[in-house]
Amino acid sequence: MDTTRFAPSPNGMLHLGHAYSAIVAHDLARDGGGRFLLRIEDIDGERSRPELAATFRRDLEWLGLQWKEVPPQSTRLASYDAAARQLIEQGLLYPCVCTRKEIEAANPRMGPDGPVYPGICKGRSVDPSKPAALRLDVERALAQTGELTWLDEVAGEQPADPRQFGDVVLVRKDQPASYHLAATLDDAADGVTLVTRGMDLFPATHIHRLLQALLDLPVPRWHHHKLLLDEAGRKLAKRRDSPSLADMRDQGMDGIELAERLRSGVLPAGISLGSA
Ligand code: GLU
Repeated sequence: MDTTRFAPSPNGMLHLGHAYSAIVAHDLARDGGGRFLLRIEDIDGERSRPELAATFRRDLEWLGLQWKEVPPQSTRLASYDAAARQLIEQGLLYPCVCTRKEIEAANPRMGPDGPVYPGICKGRSVDPSKPAALRLDVERALAQTGELTWLDEVAGEQPADPRQFGDVVLVRKDQPASYHLAATLDDAADGVTLVTRGMDLFPATHIHRLLQALLDLPVPRWHHHKLLLDEAGRKLAKRRDSPSLADMRDQGMDGIELAERLRSGVLPAGISLGSA
C-alpha cells in the first residue's frame, strides 16, 4: 500500500500536465488501497500566490480525485532549518555569496538545472555581512555516504549521480530551503513511499537520494511519468499558453470525462505524451 503525492507550487494555474501528474499519483495510490496526498509547495517567496491553493483544490475535485491535504511547506520552515544545521555540523554545507553573473563569468559546464557551480566560494571565507546561500559539498557528502542507488518503478534501478549537479544550493539567500531540501524532507515527514512526478524531475532524484542518506531518512521508490508535450514538442508550461484547468472548468468541460480520457491516453488535439 503506497502513499503518493501531488505537490504543486502555487506560482501559476494548473494545466493539463498537472492534471495528468495528479491522476497518475492518485491512481497509483488508489489501485493499491493506499493514500494520495496534496502538498502545496509555497516557499518560493517572490512567485508564490497562496490564493491559488484554493483553485488547485477545486481543480482536483473537478477531476474527480480524492486526496488528503498535508500542511503546506510554509508551515515547515523549522524542519528545514534543523536539517540544514545538521548538515552544517557534518561540515557538508558552505556559504556562497556568488551572484548568477559571477558564476556565468567562470564559464561553468551545464548541468540538469543550468550552470554547474564551479566552486568559487568553496574553502574561502566569505564576508558574513553579505547574504549567502548554503551549498552542499557533493564530493564530501559522497565520501561520507559511499555510492548510492535508487529505484524508479518505470526506469528500474538507478546509480545515484548527484555529481552532475555540482554543489547545489540547499538554503537559498532569500528562502529557508531550496526545492531539493524541502521536498526531500517533506516526502519523509509525510510518509510518502512512492514519489510520483514528471520525467523533468528525474535528475533531481539523484540529489534527493543523497540527502536521504545524509539525513538518515527513509528511502521511497519513485515513479517518474512521461510528460505531456505541446505541438512544438515542448513540455506544457505555466508560462506558455497552455490552457488552465480553471479555464476548462469555466468553459463547462466535464472534468471527470477529461480525467478518463487522460487515463486512456486520449489527448486533446495538439498534445502528445513524450517518449521518455
Ligand atoms: N513543486 C514542484 C512543481 O510544482 C513539484 C515537486 C515534486 O513533485 O517533487 O513543479
